[in-house]
Amino acid sequence: MKVQKKESQRGPEEEAQCPLDRVELGRNTWSLLHTMAAYFPERPSRSQEQEMGQFIHLFSKFFPCEDCAQDLRERLTTNQPDASSRHALSQWLCGLHNEVNARLGKPRFDCSRVDERWRDGWKDGSCD
Ligand code: FAD
Repeated sequence: MKVQKKESQRGPEEEAQCPLDRVELGRNTWSLLHTMAAYFPERPSRSQEQEMGQFIHLFSKFFPCEDCAQDLRERLTTNQPDASSRHALSQWLCGLHNEVNARLGKPRFDCSRVDERWRDGWKDGSCD
């Protein structure tokens, strides 16, 4: 399965061509991370599993929101990435995002719906 080629309806003249603030950076980054997890192999090889773990650790060193990255590095010391399967990685990332949501006073996301949100679209057909 591939990410669909549907493009934004908004014309380029309507897009604000400005550097990202923390909220925009965060939202776009979560989108990338959850989508990567959603399309990770169902049965990764040992090296894919290791490389995804390394990617997340390296990401935490370079994410350009300093206190977010610091907070993430601390979380990773006790909550190691689980890249043993697509499902495991998606659930691990959902749990991590929920920890950040809690820190920011945002609502908890129902991790049983992570594939609907990031891969398949909602069951009510609203993304079709
Ligand atoms: P976001 O939290 O960006 O979520 C985007 C969408 O993801 C939501 O609309 C929802 O549909 C979906 N979603 C929400 N929760 C989950 C979940 N658990 N699993 C799957 N999907 C979900 N900001 C700070 O101010 N301080 C920080 O310390 C901080 N740390 C961050 C760490 C990381 C690794 C990242 C990527 C971002 C961090 N941010 C931090 C940014 C912050 O998490 C939000 O991205 C930002 O505040 C915008 O929030 P939002 O309400 O648009 O939704």
